[in-house]
Amino acid sequence: MDLSYICVNHNCSFPGAKSFEITFKSEYIMDENNVASLFCPFCGSELMQVKVPDVFPENLSKDNTI
Ligand SMILES: [Zn+2]
Repeated sequence: MDLSYICVNHNCSFPGAKSFEITFKSEYIMDENNVASLFCPFCGSELMQVKVPDVFPENLSKDNTI
């Protein structure tokens, strides 16, 4: 399973249409608990870890129909 980290700062200066996101292949991660916190290079906010790519966490609480 891939791990994605996204910036959830609404004021992020990331120029893309979507939030800044970085994804690691699972083979790079021996133990996800050992992964240090990652920070957005654009706004400096701590990135939120998501385990289901392509689903924005904000949508999960509102709408479970994926
Ligand atoms: Zn950001």
